[in-house]
Amino acid sequence: MAGLVKKQGYYRGSVWEWNLPTGWSCPFAQECLVKVDRASGKFDVHRGSYRCYAASAERFPGVRDSRWANFDLMKAGGRPDIPKKCKAIRIHMSGDFFSQAYFDSWLEICRSRPDIEFWAYTKSLNYWVARLDQIPSNLILTASYGGRLDHLIEKHGLKNVKIYPCAEDVEPGRPIDTNDDWARIPDVNFALLDNMKQSKSDQKAYVGKAIQTWDDPRTNREKDAES
Ligand code: SF4
Repeated sequence: MAGLVKKQGYYRGSVWEWNLPTGWSCPFAQECLVKVDRASGKFDVHRGSYRCYAASAERFPGVRDSRWANFDLMKAGGRPDIPKKCKAIRIHMSGDFFSQAYFDSWLEICRSRPDIEFWAYTKSLNYWVARLDQIPSNLILTASYGGRLDHLIEKHGLKNVKIYPCAEDVEPGRPIDTNDDWARIPDVNFALLDNMKQSKSDQKAYVGKAIQTWDDPRTNREKDAES
């Protein structure tokens, strides 16, 4: 069933997420790319420098159904129903802006709800760059390194995030985000730690579809909320 999903615990305050299927809705994903077959749940993992952490929850049919229903809705020109009490929306804990029309539809939604805080990470930088002077003040975008359009980040001075294997590798001046707080603040570049870095045996297990060996805390929350 399509819809926003309410999350508590990970974010500061109560946040609603709008999620799409990973990979399938990410036209410019590269290093992170993971696609999960809608029907079978089979994982197709691109062996990049890091992996999409949002994909793991798609092993649950209920999560896949929800994300694909959202995808179908938006491709058909639909809009999410926003609950009355909603004050904060993270667009795409999973997924990305899959077309200019879809990106533009979120700009319209944000303009229509100035009482709501919106934020999103994206690798679909061309859609953002095409609307640089039209981003509503209640929408904070963060360019995520590791996509096919990374060159646009420096060229246009986009707020950005880089993924690092461990805290020791983070370049000076980048705060490490653990709950999306830095993603909600304009004009601050920050770091995320790769929460997929596990022992080699765990990584092999992941590629071999033994996703149960993973210890991604977000996964359990997603399972509770979405399945
Ligand atoms: S762009 Fe984001 S959601 Fe899409 S595959 Fe990469 S990390 Fe996952």
